[in-house]
Amino acid sequence: MDLGQILQQAAHAAQAFTPNSTPVVELIAPWVRSLTLSAPARWLPVLAEHAACAHKAGTRRCGARAVVACVACGRRICLSHALVGADANGVCHDCVTDVASRKSPRQVERKELRAEPVRPKAEPARRGSAAFEGIEPALQSAYETLGCMPSDTDDEVEHAYNVRMKFATNKADKALLVKSFERIAKSRV
Ligand SMILES: [Zn+2]
Ligand SMILES: [Zn+2]
Repeated sequence: MDLGQILQQAAHAAQAFTPNSTPVVELIAPWVRSLTLSAPARWLPVLAEHAACAHKAGTRRCGARAVVACVACGRRICLSHALVGADANGVCHDCVTDVASRKSPRQVERKELRAEPVRPKAEPARRGSAAFEGIEPALQSAYETLGCMPSDTDDEVEHAYNVRMKFATNKADKALLVKSFERIAKSRV
């Protein structure tokens, strides 16, 4: 989107009114102003790292240019995989999904694992973890896709699946979630 398109859309927003006749632009403008002021200081250092977005769906990594550091886990992520506030701070989709699907203290442990620096290939810490002992690799990666553990209840697995489906942005991600959920369900019958 070029600047002309952005201004055109802003002009469109400026003509809209809330039910009590406040121009919508009055609500948006302070947020945009704050973001515009805060973004350079927060984002330029991350942009200078030339890092690829750390968001992963299953084994597929996003790889778009990282712009913002997640305030929760510290990983570098692109703007499509971040929820950004007016102060230009962002939280990555994975951390948001973790929080949204959190039900037990066990899941806090998982978040700490994820907060480690992103490893180039497989994730040895999680793959080697005792929680997955005796679990076949395909089933383990199904659990990892949903962010669940074999010790989670059926309800917890289903809840994690539903939350991740809500956040899935494309067909391939959704297909992977469905496949993982089915694999886990089958292993539990
Ligand atoms: Zn991304
Ligand atoms: Zn994060």
